[in-house]
Amino acid sequence: MKWSNFTLENYKKIPKIDIIENKLLIDKMNNDKMNILNLNDIDFKLSYTNIDNKLISNKSSIKWVYSNGVMNDLKNLKSEIEIKWDNNIMFIKCNEHKLVKILNRLPTLLKMINYINNENHNLNIYLILTNLKKNINDKDNKLAAREINSGYSDIREKYIFIWREEEFEKVLFHELIHLLNKDHRDEKYDYDIYNKKSFYEALTDTKAIYYNIIYLSILTKDDIYKLLNIELNFIVNQANYMNDLIINSYKEISPVTSYYIIKSKIFKYLLSNKMNEQLFYNLFTLCKNGNDLINTIYNDKIHKINYIQINSTRMTILELN
Ligand SMILES: [Zn+2]
Repeated sequence: MKWSNFTLENYKKIPKIDIIENKLLIDKMNNDKMNILNLNDIDFKLSYTNIDNKLISNKSSIKWVYSNGVMNDLKNLKSEIEIKWDNNIMFIKCNEHKLVKILNRLPTLLKMINYINNENHNLNIYLILTNLKKNINDKDNKLAAREINSGYSDIREKYIFIWREEEFEKVLFHELIHLLNKDHRDEKYDYDIYNKKSFYEALTDTKAIYYNIIYLSILTKDDIYKLLNIELNFIVNQANYMNDLIINSYKEISPVTSYYIIKSKIFKYLLSNKMNEQLFYNLFTLCKNGNDLINTIYNDKIHKINYIQINSTRMTILELN
């Protein structure tokens, strides 16, 4: 497995930070990694299919999808397959070149999905992997679906819809955490009095990054500690970048403060000497006490660095080719 050009070109440029005081989180990641490696191979059936453009158009017509961009890019996505395993179905529409690479990773991806889905809910997943890039559009000074989002979960209809190829596996882990109610969304957040910042998104993406590093460590055989360090540098870089945009009056339509800034503070805390077994158990096993954590870190200062601007709003630097 090779890293993407994006990863290779940028990871050396991003300023290095050193914030890991406590390795408990890393031990937990290694433990989950071992559990996943010990899972039996998953039996799946793959077939070619047709995904109706009307269905894509329907599922795209919500606030969290840049629907014009998606519909315009569909003509470039010539491969359409469906994958069935257990009681789950996943549709993938992408370009032919990408399909081969995704299929190489599929056995590991399915193990990751089953591991996160430990209560065996039925999953319906749509991966419409357009080439739309995550970056800032200087003309309209806003941070909305087009610039920030890549997918959503419909909790009532019970499906996941992802509409970008870029970092789609990280996004899939993020949406699984929503769909499987591990996302802390029903907690009451003391600081979120106007209910605009969606703090549960910071907790959700923290978990998505956690699983994405495990996934990539399995595929590349790079160790978790190394990958986490690279990812932390990037998370802090992006937090500083987004903080500057918000200070410069970019309009926060998507919950950017949560996705980038609060998440960076959460990671710093989970890797500090204040981390402990109980906190991990509450967050990752019971999926509760998110509000307590947010209350603890909310007023922490952002870890200031001279960030570099790479014209991308990605949330992970780690991506395979
Ligand atoms: Zn989310």
